[in-house]
Amino acid sequence: MAAYDVVVIGGGPGGYAAGIRCAQKGASVALVEKAEMGGTCLNTGCIPSKALLASVHFLTMARHANLMGLEISGEMKVNWGKMQARKDAIVAGFRKGVTGLVQSNGIRIHAGRGIVRPGGKVTVETADGAEEIEAKKVILATGSVPIEIGAFPFDGKTIISSTEALSLSAIPASMVIIGGGVIGCEMACVYAAVGCKVTIVEALESLLPGEDAWAGMLLAKELKKLGIESMVGQKVTGVAVSGGAAKVSLAGGQVLDAEKVLVAVGRRAVCDKETIDALGLEMEGPAIKVNAKMETSAAGVYAIGDAVGTTYLAHGAFAEAEVAAANACGGDEEMGPYYLVPRAVYTFPEVASVGRSEKKCAVLGISTYVGKANFRSNGRSVAHNEGVGEVRVIRNTADDRVVGVTMVGATVTEMLAAARALIGSKEKITEVCFPHPTVSEVLKEAWEDAYGISLHVPPRR
Ligand code: NAD
Repeated sequence: MAAYDVVVIGGGPGGYAAGIRCAQKGASVALVEKAEMGGTCLNTGCIPSKALLASVHFLTMARHANLMGLEISGEMKVNWGKMQARKDAIVAGFRKGVTGLVQSNGIRIHAGRGIVRPGGKVTVETADGAEEIEAKKVILATGSVPIEIGAFPFDGKTIISSTEALSLSAIPASMVIIGGGVIGCEMACVYAAVGCKVTIVEALESLLPGEDAWAGMLLAKELKKLGIESMVGQKVTGVAVSGGAAKVSLAGGQVLDAEKVLVAVGRRAVCDKETIDALGLEMEGPAIKVNAKMETSAAGVYAIGDAVGTTYLAHGAFAEAEVAAANACGGDEEMGPYYLVPRAVYTFPEVASVGRSEKKCAVLGISTYVGKANFRSNGRSVAHNEGVGEVRVIRNTADDRVVGVTMVGATVTEMLAAARALIGSKEKITEVCFPHPTVSEVLKEAWEDAYGISLHVPPRR
């Protein structure tokens, strides 16, 4: 029986990162994956969605060619099949890359379903039968699945999840998206750009309800310009499918017609039931319960990523993987505060935030002063015809430190790491040199404005 120091279950961002870190620390490592290496992020999430968004972003830019002083003769056509093939090729390339990377770290990949039993015993159900392996420590990184609503379950054809939405064989004439969260808003941008009539139905009062309302409202206003209708504060009560088309009923009595219905109401943690039962794992709903060391209730067993239901973000899983790997190899580390995990939404415009929101500060009783700066006053943004949006920097007036940043604008996701690095610091922002002309100067202006010392934001009365 093969024996390892660490066995990781799941080859997504959490699992492969934990595996590589353990290997770098000198541990012998095996990784068990029942489907494709790369998990949701690479195969049916972050990467394929960004590939499609990149294609339609290019299209949206090209549509403004005339305004930029360019004349394109002839009709610009969407080749959906080619767009899909490009996306699939990108995913396949990274899948090969991550598999090779894991193996180059000396990690043995076991293809099959892994079931963990007490005492570090792991059964791998492979295509050629069961294989028994052994581990001193186990890291569970088993991921998540789209949440299904009982009243209108997925049929994979008309009522679909994000998985199918990334690979439709043709552009539908119309789509109702249930849920105005991250997936709903990103997929709305893809389909609206290629000519599908998109309506988002969101139960809460604004799009991206986790963010401050101004961000969701500004996003809705900009999405409307792309032809996307946002119906907020509206709940879907039922979906009737007949003849390959759907009728979506809202609580208010309205009925919407759609060729496709994308249900994007969140994801749910998953872990193999046999493993849960065998280890007697303590759970929190569908998620594996862990402490700050990423330890489960079973000795020597850690859990990370979507399976623990914390962030449902690949970079959240990376951060948890660092902690679990360190501890599985004899370290003593704890996960930092989750509110410092950045949040990025790749819509047109993008939405990005890190730290506390204004509404969270209100709940926590943190007194704040909010610095603001916009992109229409930024030279590079205007030159790029991307003058929409705003940055807000939230200062805690009690200790004068910045506690949060929310940004809406064309490339704000790329400014998020800078915002994260500045949070909590007392460094005088005026002393940090930002390159000019760059879009990132808006972050500096808003930061300065949070202290009432912005150079380019006019004084407030
Ligand atoms: P989400 O939690 O972001 O949004 C779900 C939305 O659905 C919420 O706004 C909720 O109010 C709404 N909703 C729930 N039930 C509803 C109903 N019956 N009718 C109308 N609205 C309803 O979830 P998601 O968009 O499905 O994304 C799943 C996870 O994947 C998220 O945690 C997200 O962070 C992650 N993800 C991240 C990215 C990114 O970082 N860019 C991209 C895609 C997905």
